[in-house]
Amino acid sequence: MVMYAPGMLKNRDYNFPDKGLRYHFLGGGNEVGNVGCLLDDDKKNRLLLDYGIAPTDPPKYPLPSPSVKHSIITHSHIDHLGMAPWLCANHRTKLHGTSITANISELMWNDCYKVSKIEGYPLPWDKRDIDTSIDSWEIHDFNQPWMQNEWKLTLQNAGHIPGASMLSVETDHGKVLFTGDFDSRDSMLVEGAKPEKTDILFIEGTYGGRNHPNQEEERRRFCEEIVRVSDRGGTVLIPAFANGRTQDIVMMLHKYLPELNVHVDGMGKRIAKIYMDHPDVLKDPDLLKSSWKWSKQVSSKSDRKKALDADCIVSTSGMLDGGPSIWYLNRLKEDRRNSIFFTGYQATGSGGRSLLETGKVPIWKQKVPINLDVKQFSFSTHAGHDEIVQFSSDCDAEKIVIYHSDPNHSRPPLAEALEKNGHQVDTPENGEFGNLFN
Ligand SMILES: [Zn+2]
Repeated sequence: MVMYAPGMLKNRDYNFPDKGLRYHFLGGGNEVGNVGCLLDDDKKNRLLLDYGIAPTDPPKYPLPSPSVKHSIITHSHIDHLGMAPWLCANHRTKLHGTSITANISELMWNDCYKVSKIEGYPLPWDKRDIDTSIDSWEIHDFNQPWMQNEWKLTLQNAGHIPGASMLSVETDHGKVLFTGDFDSRDSMLVEGAKPEKTDILFIEGTYGGRNHPNQEEERRRFCEEIVRVSDRGGTVLIPAFANGRTQDIVMMLHKYLPELNVHVDGMGKRIAKIYMDHPDVLKDPDLLKSSWKWSKQVSSKSDRKKALDADCIVSTSGMLDGGPSIWYLNRLKEDRRNSIFFTGYQATGSGGRSLLETGKVPIWKQKVPINLDVKQFSFSTHAGHDEIVQFSSDCDAEKIVIYHSDPNHSRPPLAEALEKNGHQVDTPENGEFGNLFN
């Protein structure tokens, strides 16, 4: 059990810098997820970029934020907005983001609340705070600048998932660009992020030191393996995250294996509906629509039983931590013709990681052996090492701040590559101040 006592930093305890701009990672500096970065200047302008939790077991929270009137939420993943209800309830903070991010936020907060009840860990906010947060949104379209006090702010497409934004901050001192979670490569759902000239670049370094396999080759391998299972009469269970991955996978299956019988279950169904209401941020809205018509959405107990005869079931949780995935796994495990294909990272402590390392998955508190083929595929929508280095070089930034990065494995090789390219590099620790333009 983790107890969170956020405390309240008073404004008088938390002054503005004397000169230039200052950044302060409350979370997500030397770690992946759990993001919260304060940016303030000598003229009393202040913003908080994202305020998430790390959905680990137990979850991790960023440091308590001092009073802040405006927060930019880059996208709708829980590690970027999971603590917004606390912020809105305690500081009456206004949340700024794209309309799709705002529309999905309620689902994400409700799901986070539900999981905290099931897992029995305390959250620093309660259900009423979700309502306050929903009323706190101010919506901005991509490439439509607005003035926040003396700063000119603009959200731009970051790739990653629909509505995910980079934030550009133009100040008297110079320009700062935050990538948020980003990918410069196209995915099935969205176009890649485009670099632009900036003085300071805050870049997420999740994949520092690691490169992704070629997207086309990975897709081909995935499809070939699915056909192999289907030909022998088996079903492939594809655990997938609800917000982005589920839809990417269903679109891929529809495009490349239209003859298959594919069923979809979990929160990804509702999120797909929200995506379809925002065709302007999708790369190919018609493909999402036709993929959704083509696949079969599970909406009842009898649907769920029928899905057991499908070629593929795409379902949450993406890491085999509860959700319909576990219900399917418990039934599919009896027939060796079936398989499990992971499509994303399996965190330490997750059911998926346990399966990969021990061949067993906790199902209703028991470690159950799973004697099925298990395969892993990489369909990440974070930029890989080479993309990060290229993007940084194209932004022509003098200084680069690497955040959202593992400080032991990912950050050092990335920092080295960026320094070799002539950039100054900052590698912030949570809780420390960094100065810019001073
Ligand atoms: Zn994300």
